[in-house]
Amino acid sequence: MRHSQLFTKTRRETPSDEVAKNAQLLMRAGYIHKEMAGVYSYLPLGLRTLNRIVQIIREEMDAIGGQELVMSALQDKELWSRTDRWDDAKVDIWFKTLFKSGGETGLGITHEEPLTRIMTEHISSYRDLPVYAYQFQNKFRNELRAKAGIMRGKEFLMKDLYSFSRNEVEHADFYTSAREAYRKVFRRLGIGDWTYLTFASGGIFSEFSEEFQTISNAGEDTIYIDEAKGIAVNKEVMSDDSLEKLGLHRSSLVERRAIEVGNIFNLGTRFSEKLGLTYADEQGVSRPVVMGCYGIGPSRLMGVLVETLADEKGIVWPAVVAPFRYHLVSLGHAGDEVSKVADELYADLEKAGIATLYDDRDLRAGEKFADSDLLGMPYRIVVGKDAAATGLFEVVERATGAVAKRSRAEILAAPQ
Ligand code: ATP
Ligand code: MG
Repeated sequence: MRHSQLFTKTRRETPSDEVAKNAQLLMRAGYIHKEMAGVYSYLPLGLRTLNRIVQIIREEMDAIGGQELVMSALQDKELWSRTDRWDDAKVDIWFKTLFKSGGETGLGITHEEPLTRIMTEHISSYRDLPVYAYQFQNKFRNELRAKAGIMRGKEFLMKDLYSFSRNEVEHADFYTSAREAYRKVFRRLGIGDWTYLTFASGGIFSEFSEEFQTISNAGEDTIYIDEAKGIAVNKEVMSDDSLEKLGLHRSSLVERRAIEVGNIFNLGTRFSEKLGLTYADEQGVSRPVVMGCYGIGPSRLMGVLVETLADEKGIVWPAVVAPFRYHLVSLGHAGDEVSKVADELYADLEKAGIATLYDDRDLRAGEKFADSDLLGMPYRIVVGKDAAATGLFEVVERATGAVAKRSRAEILAAPQ
């Protein structure tokens, strides 16, 4: 993409109405637009990154047998009343509105109810199980806190997967593979080393559920980590009793701020029993389906990556999710030799299918470099008089500042 064609603009000033570093930088760089507190739009560069995060998660969900679908945002009051999750006194984060034709609806906060009902039309025998279904969809929650930028939106993207199994054993098998798939996602995103499997309150669902918590000073949770074991306990469930159950000792735990990036729950049969999702086993006996749910927040993850990797100059994307691998910065001016060389390299990169943002604008070098630092592509290729003369380009790694001289062939051979 040519920068001159990109409609988004960068800005130098930090937005005054935004306290979170992730949103400040993403807004300054033109990745997102703030509509209202806790409500953000994703602009072209931001969408590219979000989509790449989504794709990594999708690959790992497909690898464990997930089938992708997408459910409606508008929810059926009658259905949610059956599980007692419609009443504002029970669930206080709904956005609700009225139908002109009469009756009430709400915007989906999660999707256990609708998917369980869908499954009643598709599951009737043990032969139909297990089933794993997931979606990427915007959730709507009337969250009170709005200080974490895109890490806590009132409208945000979630990947939610639900598992439907014959019994606890079959469920446990899948639960284990989902936990491993989550670990893979966080490793691929480059935050595996500071993302901990964390035991947490399961609220109404179970005594213990598991969360994945990424260390971040911007996080709203406090966790206690056993670094040797690589696991943690959420402060919410810290007690001598829970530590004993987990085989952990207070003395070996370190306290850190963290943000939940994903979680996995055993739902048991609470939804299947209330909504009539049963199957006939081998003996023809009717049994409730055993369920699990598995959430992960792609938009929150995008915020976490900015929070944890950015430096004083701007965003630093890991190559796997950067909107573009290369930021090709031409120091030439329309028609001169330098811009001709830059044009040619850009054409070659495009032809090779290597995602490149080409700064072809007629601006001062300092301005272009400042934008390049702010935007955070993994590698910057500088085309100046030198490159035009020698055929060697300066390639600067954004994360480290390391500079290398590379030929066109070496640049084009880069892994994608
Ligand atoms: P939190 O305790 O942070 O509010 P939660 O327990 O409500 O999270 P879930 O309902 O399990 O989270 O949602 C699954 C995933 O969706 C979370 O792990 C997180 O990554 C993401 N998520 C949840 N709430 C938000 C939000 N308001 N904005 C962005 N992402 C969110
Ligand atoms: Mg929440």
